[in-house]
Amino acid sequence: MDGADTHAERLEALRLLAAGRVASSAAALESLVHDRASLNDDDEHDPDGAPLSAEWSRLAGQSDAAKSELRQIEAALLRIEAGTYGVCVTCGRRIPDQRLRVRPFAEQCVACAERSLPRR
Ligand SMILES: [Zn+2]
Repeated sequence: MDGADTHAERLEALRLLAAGRVASSAAALESLVHDRASLNDDDEHDPDGAPLSAEWSRLAGQSDAAKSELRQIEAALLRIEAGTYGVCVTCGRRIPDQRLRVRPFAEQCVACAERSLPRR
């Protein structure tokens, strides 16, 4: 049984990668904001309003994805410390190791995750 330690190591590596992506997408967004600010077009400040440039959407999407992944990874690391790692937060059953290998920061078992998937 090498369970928790292996997961912790993988999560730590993933955390560094995700943190790097958060930082680089934040920097890219910031330079885009800077460019836009110099154009002085206030019309596109409402995120739900007029569509922003494709570049902005792409970077914002990357940034959000990286941030949410980082949050999930940090939460998983906390669960390892708390000794609750690998237990589904919704139904309390163990998450299969197979799933944790594919998705080390999974906080729900497959059944619960599928049920809580956003419908589009
Ligand atoms: Zn579950």
